[in-house]
Amino acid sequence: MIFNIQRYSTHDGPGIRTVVFIKGCSLSCRWCQNPESRARTRDLLYDARLCLDGCTLCQQAAPAAISRALNGLLIDRQRLTDDDLTTLTHCCPTQALSVCGETQTVDDIMATVLRDKPFYDRSGGGITLSGGEPFMDPTLSLALLQASRQQNIHTAVETCLHVPWRYLEPSLPLVDLFLADLKHVDSARFRQWTDGSAKRVLDNLVRLADAGKKMIIRVPLIPGFNADKASIKAITRFAADRLRVNEIHFLPYHTLGINKYHLLGETYTAPDKPLDAPELLAFAQEYARDCGLTATLRG
Ligand code: SF4
Ligand code: SF4
Repeated sequence: MIFNIQRYSTHDGPGIRTVVFIKGCSLSCRWCQNPESRARTRDLLYDARLCLDGCTLCQQAAPAAISRALNGLLIDRQRLTDDDLTTLTHCCPTQALSVCGETQTVDDIMATVLRDKPFYDRSGGGITLSGGEPFMDPTLSLALLQASRQQNIHTAVETCLHVPWRYLEPSLPLVDLFLADLKHVDSARFRQWTDGSAKRVLDNLVRLADAGKKMIIRVPLIPGFNADKASIKAITRFAADRLRVNEIHFLPYHTLGINKYHLLGETYTAPDKPLDAPELLAFAQEYARDCGLTATLRG
């Protein structure tokens, strides 16, 4: 299941690219700015500001799950069935209610990707699989990578690597570039801020490195989690010494996705202010360069 296809991206690998966002991620990072990407199934988002007084269309479509309250709708997402979500997809006249996630065939996705093949060829671009975590759907990822290879399209994957190795192994020969997250090397800190295991991620990173795969390491810098000198040093040393990569990207924390938690009826528990630490960012870049890496700050 995918939740977006973004054409003409220039931030997700070299050249001009089409990014296919695949739904599903097991990490549940507290700071995730794409909370609608985490579930493998469809999500229902509701924006009360756009809802019309007196409208009952969605209540009629899913009466067991949606009812009207004083300040908008009450939505019991546990009670939404697949049929409800299908009906609700085209139900709301104002976009107050929207369904995130759709099943498209590999041929349909590739038809969109292939539209921009001339741009990839001219710019050195291609397709990027993103998420969520693309390898949470290993079958779809593999099929898209195979189809891209057949069309001679450069392939990149943005991945948090929190998956069993067997999910990504079949795709290895088909991936030209991994844009791999390295969020922390400290297991306890990782466990505190995510629902996952640092060991699983680090083991996968090492296996990719040992397999000689081309990788760029990406480090989201999150206040309270890893936006401090000791964490940056440990992460950067691991990337340089153990993974032997050439390039590292630091991504300062932002909060652009917080509103999506409200739309999903969830609570946001990470810091509510973006990272404002120019000195630390300068330190990160300098330290990485001292370790022999090309360091870039990404927005
Ligand atoms: S790995 Fe990425 S998509 Fe998954 S929860 Fe973390 S920030 Fe969100
Ligand atoms: S269909 Fe849209 S506008 Fe109508 S009640 Fe539902 S959310 Fe509000």
